[in-house]
Amino acid sequence: MPAVVDLRSDTVTKPSPAMRKAMAEAEVGDDVYHEDPSINRLEEMVAALYGKEAALYVPSGTMANQVAIRAQTHHGDEIIMERSSHPFNSEAGALAALAGVQVNLIEGRRGIIEVDQIKAAVRTPNVHHAPTALICLENTHNRGGGSIWPLDKIRAIREYALSVGVPMHLDGARLLNACVATGLTPKDYAVYFDSCTLCLSKGLGAPVGSLIIGSKAFIERAHRFRKQFGGGMRQAGILAAAGIYALEHNVERLAEDHLNAKRLARGIADIEGLEVDVNAVETNIVYFHVRKAELTVPMLLERLKAEGVLMGGTGPTSIRAVTHLDVDKEGIDRAVEVLRAAMK
Ligand SMILES: *Cc1c(COP(=O)(O)O)cnc(C)c1O
Repeated sequence: MPAVVDLRSDTVTKPSPAMRKAMAEAEVGDDVYHEDPSINRLEEMVAALYGKEAALYVPSGTMANQVAIRAQTHHGDEIIMERSSHPFNSEAGALAALAGVQVNLIEGRRGIIEVDQIKAAVRTPNVHHAPTALICLENTHNRGGGSIWPLDKIRAIREYALSVGVPMHLDGARLLNACVATGLTPKDYAVYFDSCTLCLSKGLGAPVGSLIIGSKAFIERAHRFRKQFGGGMRQAGILAAAGIYALEHNVERLAEDHLNAKRLARGIADIEGLEVDVNAVETNIVYFHVRKAELTVPMLLERLKAEGVLMGGTGPTSIRAVTHLDVDKEGIDRAVEVLRAAMK
């Protein structure tokens, strides 16, 4: 049987032999004391990439978001985010448990919200209100289908946020996917945010690691909360070396993942009983629907799995497939053929 085509997530990538070599050769030190040269180098690289003063390496994207939010809010504050955003839906309740904030959710279109919705959500000073402490956006938007935030919409929100003194956070787990797709740079986006994140363990292919990016003062505060949340690591330069390798070798190639996602969507569009919006596929995430009464999502996923194709169920009729550096064009074509057969 040919190799498994695993499209459940871009987190499933495994470190390549060259990446493992870079890890084995990494210089290390105690990072809680800022003495790990590989982590220091990675943090400097990413701060420069985002055009900010400083960055902080953390074990996961969840910790990146939660530490960044914690460092900019007080317990009992309110933050604004889109209803389907990752920190609200997929971080195990950390906003309540760790950051200690409540959330004012806005219904978006494919994860994108409008400045007028934010204007209506920001709290006025009133003893009854939890003060609005932060506006959080996500780019690309995971549950929005890998959608890319238009820069003019971010700019409009930033202009308003500045006028009411509310800082902004960007969940940039897949910001580089947005950059490769649009030709914009991370700086072009990051300039509108007080804090940002980046995941190295998604399409970039590192086994572990995310970064928080922002001003020097903010990162100093975040450093304390990273320790408090249990994210202070020691000779983790071995992991950071994988991140450096990923940034040096795996960014431009994200374009291939985007082509493969389009190819997959076109293939799916051609299969009876499946429904997909091909034009909505902007980066490496494809959402599609099963429109066959007698066939449930779990049944279809089982049939795919039996043929070595893995995807994720995300709702009563919806399935998500994510492309990444361990799936090539041939793998995509096989996934389409297996899907076609499974729908018969
Ligand atoms: C994957 C992801 C994260 C972080 O996930 P971890 O599994 O904690 O690394 C954060 N935001 C978005 C949008 C993501 O897709």
